[in-house]
This record gives sequence, C-alpha cells and structure tokens, in this order.
Amino acid sequence: MRQDPNRLIFEIEARDGDARRGILQTPHGPVETPAFIPLATKGSVRGMSSREIEGMGYEMVLGNTYHLLVAPGPERIAEAGGLHGFMAWDKAIITDSGGFQVFSLAHGGVAEEIKGSNRNMHGQGKTLGIEEEGVRFRSYKDGSELMLSPEESMQVQALLGSDIALVFDECTPFHADRDYTARSTERTHRWLQRCLDWHGEHGPDKQAVFGIIQGGTHADLRKESCEAVSAAGVDGISIGGTLGRDKEEMAEVLGFTVPNLPVGAAKHLLGIGEVDDLMRGIALGLDVFDCAVPTRLARHGMALAPRPDKRFRIDIRKPREVGNREPLVPGCPCSACADYDRDYLNYISKSEELTAVRLMVDHNLTYMERLMRGAREAISAGEFTEYSDRILAGAPPWDAR
Ligand SMILES: [Zn+2]
Repeated sequence: MRQDPNRLIFEIEARDGDARRGILQTPHGPVETPAFIPLATKGSVRGMSSREIEGMGYEMVLGNTYHLLVAPGPERIAEAGGLHGFMAWDKAIITDSGGFQVFSLAHGGVAEEIKGSNRNMHGQGKTLGIEEEGVRFRSYKDGSELMLSPEESMQVQALLGSDIALVFDECTPFHADRDYTARSTERTHRWLQRCLDWHGEHGPDKQAVFGIIQGGTHADLRKESCEAVSAAGVDGISIGGTLGRDKEEMAEVLGFTVPNLPVGAAKHLLGIGEVDDLMRGIALGLDVFDCAVPTRLARHGMALAPRPDKRFRIDIRKPREVGNREPLVPGCPCSACADYDRDYLNYISKSEELTAVRLMVDHNLTYMERLMRGAREAISAGEFTEYSDRILAGAPPWDAR
C-alpha cells in the first residue's frame, strides 16, 4: 500500500470491533466513512442536480468509464474541466473502470444498470472479443467498435479526472467454473500491473488508484488476489466479482476475503448496497459502498423503509396506498416524507410523473445518507452492534441510536 498525501490519505478515527469510522482525504475534500456512494453512472445522479446531492450530505459520487466513453466521450468531458467541471460537482469522484460493463456484455451477465439504460443494448452493444490485450466491443450508441484495455481504461479515467480510479479487471460471473475464475483472476492481476504502469507514467499526479480483488467464491483464489493486490502499491482496495448466489454466501465470501487485506487500507465493496448488506459490510471493516439500488428502486416506485420483512422497501404503487394520509416513512427529513402523503406519491408514481422519480430518489438517498451517518456516530460511541441490531429489527436510522 502507498500513502501519497498528494492523492489520498485514509485515516481511521474510531474503531468498534472490526467496524471503523474514518476519513478519506481526497483532492476534492474529505469523505467521511463508512460512506454510501450514489451512482452518477453517466455523469448525473438520476433525476437530481449535483447541488441537490451535495445538499443531502454526500461527499463522493461514482462515474462510469464505460458509459462515459460511449457518450459523450472523455475528450469532451476533459474540455469541460474533467467530470467535476462537466457535472458541476466539486466534491470527490470515484470512477469505475468499465470492466464490469464490458464483461457483463460478454458473459450475458446481470448488469441491471445496463439492461435499464438502453433497450438497444442487447442488439448493438456486443462484446467482440476478450483477449490478453483487452476487450473489444460495439458501442450501443452508434455501433462503432471500441476497445477497453487496462491502458485505455486508465487513460479515460485520467481524462475524466476522478479522484479515485479503479483498475481494469474482469468481473467473473457466478456461473464461471473454478478453472476459468483462476485464469481470469491471474489475468486481472497482470492487468492491474499494466494499469499501475500506465498510471505511473501518464496518470494525473493527484489521482489515486484502487486495485480490485477477484477470485469468485473460492477462498484460495480470493486470498491470492488479496495478496497480489495488496503488494502492488495501490492506494486502496475494492472488492469485486461474484459474491455468491445469496446473502449467506456473500457473508461467507467477504468473511474469508476481508481478513486477508491490510487493516489500514481503505476498502470499497463494489455494487453492494442493500440496508442489511451495508450493516454486515460495515461490521466486517468495509469503508465505502456503491450501489444502483436506491436510485433504481426509485424509478419503480419503491422506497427504502424500516421494513426488514419487506427487504427494507415499500412499493408506493400498491392499491393499498390510495387514500393513505400517512407519510412515506414518518420522521424522514426528505421532501417526499416532509411534504406529501402516500396517497399523492402513489398517484404521481403510477402516473410516471418526473416529480415522482425525483421525490423517490430524494427519499432513498436521504435514507441511505442517514443510515450511514448513524453508523459513523454509532462506531464513535462504541455502539455499532446495537445500532445494526436495531436497524435490522426495523428501526429507522434516525431512531436507531
Ligand atoms: Zn423520506
């Protein structure tokens, strides 16, 4: 691990068991951890302005190399002053490498953000080949042939100017066998070195680089990956790839992965962010989480709620909400809960009004921000287990401490 104060410093401020509270100091300001990172996949958080996201208390968003490469293209973003200037966001940005998206195309994967983003995707956005060099694919926008390789991904992320770049990796799918996963993980480690070599020579001085742990659901492969990535001189570590078929297996995979990582490293869990997953991830000592769930649910009229019996969500479009004068989630400070009742939210959500998506995103991201804020405070007070137990038993974040 390296700690170059020009790019990133991670300081652990408080510990409670393996859970810890810390601060990621980035060139665009501090990010208090544990943190949930909203997705700004295509350079915007669904339905919301950057100012609104900042107003909710968020300090970092995640942009996506694959989507921003396809459109509008990294050169256009660089001309606008990088992704920060382009989307008028002055706080920290982490960029995904694009590996997850191109390999989801290749493996017929379950990348819901891809499925949801463009109906033409499966017709045009095809992977043409996976080679040692990288991955060739067709743009879903205009059918042109594009290449993502370790160097290309790092170059795009350099043009985007994110505070934290992720190395280009192969996201091995759940259905891959052990042999494929082993060979793929080794290639991911070779790609890691190519990413770091390119970044060392050409990358922005202030951009930090996180390595990515692969290895599927295999304990020995995960351990090897932890050792390879930890030894490579990265600024932080992301955990990627399949974590199994269900939450039980995810807990098992994380349980045999995280202890193999340096305690002091900033640790990011890629693509996981349901309420119960966050509580378990924080308890294991993970610091940063990103996930499409809060914004994607909003589009379908689903609101995060203290309902462990309903996977911590309620469907505002259900007929039972007609005539319901109660707020979405009592006590929630968001505008959807403060100003409207469920009857109205049911009506505008079923009517597919833009306002409905905005209000539901506002609610879901406010809920997540409060959940993580509560976790940070609980860790400082040495009460994280109690906080997590109350959340998992159905307390809202603002009443769980
Ligand atoms: Zn709310």
